[in-house]
Amino acid sequence: MSALAGIKTIKDLELANQRVFIRVDFNVPQDKATKAITDDARVRAAVPTIQYAMEQGAKVILASHLGRPKPGKRDATLVPVGECLRDLTGYDVFVPDDCVGDGPKKLISELRAKQVVLLENLRFHEEEEKNDEAFARQLAELCDCYVNDAFGSSHRAHASVHALPRIMREKACGFLMEKEIDKLGKIVTDPDKPYVAILGGAKVSDKIAVVEALLNNVTGLCIGGAMANTFLRAMGKNTGKSLVEEDKLALARTIIEKARDKKVELVLPVDVVVASDTNATEGRVVSVDEIPADTMALDIGPKTLELVAAVCKRARSVFWNGPMGLFENAPFASGTFGVARAIAAAQCFSVVGGGDSASAVKKAGPEVELAFTHISTGGGASLELVEGRKLPGIEILRSA
Ligand code: ADP
Ligand code: MG
Repeated sequence: MSALAGIKTIKDLELANQRVFIRVDFNVPQDKATKAITDDARVRAAVPTIQYAMEQGAKVILASHLGRPKPGKRDATLVPVGECLRDLTGYDVFVPDDCVGDGPKKLISELRAKQVVLLENLRFHEEEEKNDEAFARQLAELCDCYVNDAFGSSHRAHASVHALPRIMREKACGFLMEKEIDKLGKIVTDPDKPYVAILGGAKVSDKIAVVEALLNNVTGLCIGGAMANTFLRAMGKNTGKSLVEEDKLALARTIIEKARDKKVELVLPVDVVVASDTNATEGRVVSVDEIPADTMALDIGPKTLELVAAVCKRARSVFWNGPMGLFENAPFASGTFGVARAIAAAQCFSVVGGGDSASAVKKAGPEVELAFTHISTGGGASLELVEGRKLPGIEILRSA
């Protein structure tokens, strides 16, 4: 069964002259001082759905959260995001003072061609995160039908992704959401084998549920990043000053045993790039048996990269989450960019999830980025799907 079974897409809705509420993920990163948007990828990602609705003659109402405004404080305004959307689409973007009430109602009733309303930050109301039904009814008063295109927000049962679609008769997913459900759904339920997962990033504890779920599904598992240090330590190696989660050593041993029992090919680093600290301007490649006591492992080494690349070459599906090293610093970026290139070259069904991993793929260059089947826009949401969990914002779109 397809992961999209029972879910309408925006193309199934009658949109002409309808007020269409589109939940988007405009939770963009901003410069702390100037509030300038530092990466507009999330706004761009929603444009196809918005444009489609406009072309169908809908009155478009966009809604998102932004940041974590403190109760009673209105510091995270969506006004700069509205300007960004205007520049990207050429539409007039009106941002009322609030996301519910008479202000937005009036603006929506007066909408003309090439004009959209972007509601003010949903989190100005604490009812949003409480999945409050009365608040959802206030949002429902603004619209005739509901579209969710905010995959990155769909793992939390908040009012705009759960209580609202629960009371709306007409509901569907947007194009971005459709692609996320389709591609991640394929890798979770029906991956072509060999299926290899590559995991990295900072912490084992963040990803433990994902590792356990993946062990039931993959034929190969590669572990890099700071996460690998905990495994190396669990195998009795000296890891110097490297980040190690001492309380997860037993867990790492269990994972190694499980992989053996399930005949999952497990690739752990055989060499690493070490330096005295994270600000070092250069690193040194050493075997994992020779990590000096006064250094820390900050990237996988070239021999390890070769092993990972060889596994990718044989794979028909790859899921990647978590950078292989401290890729933000150039001396420790080779492993991460190398893995990105290896996956791209493998021409397999490839999905990357996780905020830092997705940004690493983009930094690796357009030819690498384009070679990936899917770069998920939802960090936490994509991991929850890979864990095999059901996301409230997706399930509520399904008709019985
Ligand atoms: P994602 O956002 O893709 O899920 P994570 O947030 O789990 O990834 O981890 C990303 C972070 O892990 C990056 O900031 C990266 O610098 C850091 N990291 C990866 N490997 C190491 C390492 N060996 N030592 C220190 N930090 C690391
Ligand atoms: Mg991250």
